Amino acid sequence: MVVNLNTTQIQDWRGFNGRPFLIAGPCSAETEEQVMETAKQIAKINKVTVFRSGIWKPRTRPSSFEGIGLEGLKWLKQVKEETGLLVGTEVANERHVYEALKYGIDMLWIGARTSVNPFTVQEISNALNGVDVMVLVKNPVNPDLELWIGAIERIAKAGIKRLGAIHRGFSAFEKTTYRNQPNWQLPIELRRRLPYIPLICDPSHIAGSREYIHEISQKALDLNYDGLMIESHIDPDKALSDARQQLTPNDLKELLSRLILRNPSTTDPRILDVLGELRQQIDIYDDHLIDLIEQRMKVAETIGKYKKENNITILQSVRWDEIVKRVMIHGQAKGLSTELIDIIFKAIHQESINHQMKIMNDGVISEE
Ligand code: PEP
Ligand code: MN
Repeated sequence: MVVNLNTTQIQDWRGFNGRPFLIAGPCSAETEEQVMETAKQIAKINKVTVFRSGIWKPRTRPSSFEGIGLEGLKWLKQVKEETGLLVGTEVANERHVYEALKYGIDMLWIGARTSVNPFTVQEISNALNGVDVMVLVKNPVNPDLELWIGAIERIAKAGIKRLGAIHRGFSAFEKTTYRNQPNWQLPIELRRRLPYIPLICDPSHIAGSREYIHEISQKALDLNYDGLMIESHIDPDKALSDARQQLTPNDLKELLSRLILRNPSTTDPRILDVLGELRQQIDIYDDHLIDLIEQRMKVAETIGKYKKENNITILQSVRWDEIVKRVMIHGQAKGLSTELIDIIFKAIHQESINHQMKIMNDGVISEE
């Protein structure tokens, strides 16, 4: 189901100066000098709309730097007055909202550790009732799309019109290259479900390390994201939080200049012709795939009937193991990733089991 939350398009947001909508600034406000100097250098890049800075920091361990607090809000106000940049910070409870609004903060974002909690999101929504401010909702730390959508809906109910989502990746138990796994299919599905909600990528928190920020940003732009939020600090190695993933304003400028902006659509009839023809081919292959899966299910059902007659269990793990090994080798030879083969065949196998279960239990296949 596609939902319209009655929000405004990002093109109509104050300060919008073309795609990508850029938000940049340090992970945390640390000192007046660090904030002002970073902001001045970022303003000079001439591409950034919002200067970000954490004032209250949600830290995993209690002994880490937990943010400068109220004093930092004065510095953000000063940034706005001296550079003309809009300013934004993270809020995690209603007191944060009231304090930030008192200092004229233009953008508030709800962090990944807060958007998991409907009580807190509701509390923030109540504090925002009737206020006209930009609000961005980061994805919850766990890959739960409904929770993310629920948090966005709660904020929309406060009447927030300039409302967006930030994709900052999802935590995982295993160590991976990136600090947080992007799970791109989740924001893509968010886009399908809430097509009117601007989508911003936060490559800094996905990457966890400077070296990957460009590739993640480019991927987000290729997926037609509306904007990027990138952490930048005048002296990243000395940062009190997220030192490894922050860029100097100069490196940020260089990174932004290397990003390639592709058009989300075109009206050129020659390009549309070629694309149209290629898309027809894709549709044909997709129909083939469905026909093939249907045929495979028919065979699975025949096997199911046979197992029933002979009183054999549905799951035959040795046989399943054999299938996985075989298709992995075949898939690799065809240049397909093991991840794809794994996802497709687990889903197909589950579907076969479901068909066989029905045969075993009532002998009738219903069309659900
Ligand atoms: C941040 O933006 O600095 C932050 C704490 O982000 P997240 O909620 O994505 O961890
Ligand atoms: Mn950070």
